[in-house]
Amino acid sequence: MTNLKNLREKLDHVDEEFIALVAKRMELVHEISKVKAGQSDLLRDSEREREVLSRVEKAAQTRNLSIPFAKKLFREILSYSLEEQSKEIEKKKKAPGTRRITVAFQGIENAYSHLAAQSYFARDGDGLHYVGNPTFKSAMASLVSGAVDYAILPLENTTAGSINEVYDLLLENDVSIVGEEIWKVEHCLIGTEEVPLEKIRKIISHPQAIEQCSNFLSSLRSVNLEGYFDTAGAVKKIAEDQDPEQAAIASAESAQAWGLSVLKRTITNQEENFTRFVILSRNPVAYDVRIPCKTSLILSTRHEKGALVNCLKILSNHELNMTKLESRPRGHRPWEYLFYLDFQGNLSDPKTSKALDELKGHSLYLKVLGTYPAKAFPMEAAVTSASGQEFPLVAEEEPPLEPVSSPKPEKALSPVLIKSKDYKLVSRNHQPEDTLIRVGDLLIGKQGFVIMAGPCAVESENQILQTAQHVKKCGGQILRGGVFKPRTSPYSFQGMGWEGLTLLYEAGKQYGLPIVTEVLAPEQVKGVSGKADILQIGARNMQNFPLLREVGKVNRPVLLKRGMSSTLEELLAAAEYILSQGNGQVMLCERGIRTFETSTRNTLDLSAVPVLSERTHLPIIVDPSHGTGHRRYVPPMSLAAKAVGAHGLLIEIHPDPDKALSDGPQSLTLQDFSVLMKRLRKG
Ligand code: PEP
Ligand code: MN
Repeated sequence: MTNLKNLREKLDHVDEEFIALVAKRMELVHEISKVKAGQSDLLRDSEREREVLSRVEKAAQTRNLSIPFAKKLFREILSYSLEEQSKEIEKKKKAPGTRRITVAFQGIENAYSHLAAQSYFARDGDGLHYVGNPTFKSAMASLVSGAVDYAILPLENTTAGSINEVYDLLLENDVSIVGEEIWKVEHCLIGTEEVPLEKIRKIISHPQAIEQCSNFLSSLRSVNLEGYFDTAGAVKKIAEDQDPEQAAIASAESAQAWGLSVLKRTITNQEENFTRFVILSRNPVAYDVRIPCKTSLILSTRHEKGALVNCLKILSNHELNMTKLESRPRGHRPWEYLFYLDFQGNLSDPKTSKALDELKGHSLYLKVLGTYPAKAFPMEAAVTSASGQEFPLVAEEEPPLEPVSSPKPEKALSPVLIKSKDYKLVSRNHQPEDTLIRVGDLLIGKQGFVIMAGPCAVESENQILQTAQHVKKCGGQILRGGVFKPRTSPYSFQGMGWEGLTLLYEAGKQYGLPIVTEVLAPEQVKGVSGKADILQIGARNMQNFPLLREVGKVNRPVLLKRGMSSTLEELLAAAEYILSQGNGQVMLCERGIRTFETSTRNTLDLSAVPVLSERTHLPIIVDPSHGTGHRRYVPPMSLAAKAVGAHGLLIEIHPDPDKALSDGPQSLTLQDFSVLMKRLRKG
């Protein structure tokens, strides 16, 4: 016994020495940071890391120590050193201050999110305040509202995969990832007192934790399993109930916090069970280019063969290593996929931002979730994008469009490629192939000809249902209807607003028609995107730049109308605003311009169609209703638009145009529309 005691004392002494040596090593690391301070070299020196590890390998070998173990230990140490050096650079840039930092997390104290947050912010001093939240959504909401400075949310787990709810929140909210924390999840079985496992009758925990411990749980007999909203919450319940026959699955830290006993440690099926958390802030942080960073994106690819491979090639051409690629079907949109992608790159580095610009040109939608210092030691995790495999892509061949199809007229013999300093992403120079935009099962662009029809304004349930039924019957593919109306006079009908949007949405759903409606203000964009399939930007708002930026951030196709006094170059520059924010799903709409001619409401500039198709790859839609202002001119101009190569029409129709609350004179009757559809199909 005394021998054991003696040996343990020696061991304790060695441990102390070991920690002292690591601390000494860190002091040297800090010295090195100071030497490197004035230099622009990257912090990570892969060559040097390889040297250190090979020295460690040799030393381990001569001392008969496991080489993989020694290398694992040193990778941890190197990773920690790198983090410390990065923090030092960042610290120099931040103004010193003792401001209180508040961090929202999901769960109660000692939940894994809370533990990970404490680890991440450990070196930020005492002014930290953690706020528990019942759901991921409420943690995000408190960040967005400004109630807290940061939120921490779990993004993926090595056993359970990506946490889609969190990705959805990242998609919907304007926040940035500014850091990450990798946390080893070590579930324990926790009870009120040390009782043999056979005594336990009921175990409560978060369903995911129960699933991750299924092997251990199946070894127990006659135990009731009960789902709970949070692992740490389950521990609290056990502490309150004080029933020795109940147990919870959670972290050892939460057992300690409630003075409970750990009945069994590490009961997870897979011992290596890690969760990756992201630290979110309302604004992005620009990290020094010397700091090794990761950049995370959500993107959807164009509807063409090899689209994903082309995106991955862009990364590999810029020598950016991909560390994650996962595809996920988009809710409500069968066979459409979103890709979650991470790569090693810092957006402050021009090489990375250039690659990102190229990616924007090749994707239909791209949202940058953030650039942040990479936590995991990237050496092993890297998967080079060059070897990226093809994911199931949607709609590789475009289906025949019913009922109107249109072979495009011959292109000009020698197209004039105009270079402009005002736009690049929308230009044919940047992307020679036509963009195809997917709306439900429909593809807009290239060869197709799409008909969008409906009233100028939604006026009543009956009016919109009757119109929708007729659009469907005649073979129209998209239902239009204004609910926020931009009217010249404040005394005119301003639209039915949100109530009208619900009516339009229900009518679209009932007749299987996607819907298009106008957004007038940036604040409406998120709400309208929840229901509308296409967001319209009206002529009066073509240069409403905050509005263009806002629709550029959502994953919804946009119909951008030409301003009534705008040149085509201005229209293209306006579209560039939307693409530059990541949304590549833009259709341009010619709807007539102001000229000295008064016989028609506007002058429908059909020459815009061939001119635009020379300069841009985006689909072009013609609106002959606003273009002429008189219903009798709508059919001939519709046929003409098709003849000059437009990709579709936007037409106003009404069950009783004479009683319409707006734009009655230019609205076709339902009967007129049937006739026009027949003619379009023929000609
Ligand atoms: C409309 O389409 O309802 C509309 C208001 O059109 P514009 O913006 O082209 O005037
Ligand atoms: Mn109108």
